[in-house]
Amino acid sequence: MVTRRDFLHQGMGLTAAGLLATPLIGCAARNTHTVAAAGSIVHTAKPSSHTAGHAKNKAAAAAAADTAPAASTELEPPPDIFDAQALDLEFWLKPRVLDVTRPASGERAKILYWKDGQVIDSAYQELCHLMRDVNGKETAPIDPKLFETLWGAQAFVARYGIEHPLEILSGYRTPTSNRRLIEAGVPAARQSLHISGQAADIRIANLNEEVLGGLVRSFRQGGVGFYYRSGPRGGWIHADTGLKRTWKG
Ligand SMILES: [Zn+2]
Repeated sequence: MVTRRDFLHQGMGLTAAGLLATPLIGCAARNTHTVAAAGSIVHTAKPSSHTAGHAKNKAAAAAAADTAPAASTELEPPPDIFDAQALDLEFWLKPRVLDVTRPASGERAKILYWKDGQVIDSAYQELCHLMRDVNGKETAPIDPKLFETLWGAQAFVARYGIEHPLEILSGYRTPTSNRRLIEAGVPAARQSLHISGQAADIRIANLNEEVLGGLVRSFRQGGVGFYYRSGPRGGWIHADTGLKRTWKG
C-alpha cells in the first residue's frame, strides 16, 4: 500500500521527470518527436571554427533561451499538484468511484466501490464481473490492490480535467484464453498475471502511454508494461500487482 506521502512524492517526481509536463492530451509520439527535434537542433550546432563556433554557440544559447520560456510555461504543472497535505488527504480519503468501459463487450459502468476506508462488497463483485474474461465468459476474483491502482490512475488524471472512462482491454483471463492470445500472436506471457486476476491492460482516451504508464509505475504496486502502438487509438498499459518491474512490449 502506497502511502499518501509516497504518492504525492511520486507525483511530484513524475512532474520533475517531465512525464506529466508533456501535455497530457495528444499524441505521445508527436510530443516526443518535438522534444527530440528541439534537442538535436541544439546538439548539431557544432562549431566549424572557434569564432564561428562561439557565434553559433551563442545562437544556440539564444535559441535555447527563446524556447525555454515557452517550454517552462508548457511544463508548468497545475498548481494543485504542489498543494498542501489537506488536498492530498482529501484525495485518498474521498469515496472511490471507478468509471470503466469494456470495449470488447460495449459495457460501461460508474461504480462507487470504496467508501469510509472499506471496499463495498457488491461493488467489488460488479467490478470483478466487468473485469471478467469476455472471450472465455468466466468471472474470477480480482486482487483488490489492482482496483486501487486503476482508481488511483483515473482519479489522478481527473485532477487535470481528464475524465474519460478507464478502458479495460483485458482483465481476468482463463488459461485457455491466454493460450489462444499467445497463439494468435498477441503479446501475452505464458504465466500471465491476468490468469490469477492480478493484471489489467488499460487505456484512457487521449492519454499517452508514457504518462499513464509513468503514473501507474509511480504507485510502486507491481509490474507495468508499456505497449506503444501508432494509430488513432494508440497503445495500452499493462498494470499488475506482482513483482515491481517495467518493460516495453
Ligand atoms: Zn496485460
